[in-house]
Amino acid sequence: MLIPMRPIALLLAGALGAISPVQAGLMDILESMNAPAPESQRLVPRLPPMPAAAGRGKNWVGTVVPSKQMPILVMAGHADSQRMHGSGTPGRAVDLGGAAPMQAGITDELYWNLLTAKAVVAEGQRQGLNIRFYDPGVRTIRNEQDPRTNWAVGYDHASRGGYGLEIHYDAYAPHGVGPGVIPAVAFGFSVLDEALAKEFGAYPYHYRGILGAPRRGISMLEIGQLEGVLEASLRDPSRRQPTLEQIASRVVKALREGLATPGLQPSEGPTVGLR
Ligand SMILES: [Zn+2]
Repeated sequence: MLIPMRPIALLLAGALGAISPVQAGLMDILESMNAPAPESQRLVPRLPPMPAAAGRGKNWVGTVVPSKQMPILVMAGHADSQRMHGSGTPGRAVDLGGAAPMQAGITDELYWNLLTAKAVVAEGQRQGLNIRFYDPGVRTIRNEQDPRTNWAVGYDHASRGGYGLEIHYDAYAPHGVGPGVIPAVAFGFSVLDEALAKEFGAYPYHYRGILGAPRRGISMLEIGQLEGVLEASLRDPSRRQPTLEQIASRVVKALREGLATPGLQPSEGPTVGLR
């Protein structure tokens, strides 16, 4: 019945004439209620080749600017992968020091990732950034295709030109590496990652063969190793809030600097912005 309908639709359109501005406005509002962009507006993920030489330093340059229409999306690393492989570091205090986990059922890393991500968003909003927090809420999602995961929501955001960042704390020595940004790779390297690299340091883009989040266009920020002064400051109730606020202000300062940097649109971004 679709084909016979067409002439009728054309006749109706002709009879109604041009759509008035009022009607067009209504159409825009109705269309904007359907949040997901059409597939044609999505960016296509492209991964650069692995570098020939193995190295531990920064081997990328961030030049892509995020879409101004989309808020910066901040997530807590491992928020949906508890009680399974990839749940994050328990931290030195718990693993070696015999301390009780901050919260039963989740790693200390996730506990601090959540508080840090929320602190970054609160400080960012206070300073006028268009920034929001996403939490899957469910702490164990085994199905990688589940649309509620950090990876699914982050990919959706990044493929529409947005910037998504997962907060992490690294494992204690000798397992971890230390602070630094692991840049999103799938849609070109971002000016925001370039700015975070100046503040926190940087990992090579191909760290561990390009991790799951960067492959999906999501950046990862390692705040530091969960040990020593950093872990003690977070665990000490009297120093916790100032510590979280100090970290949040460093992240927000970097994001603001990144946003002030001119760059390329996501669609023009180089597949490979390598150093
Ligand atoms: Zn982590």
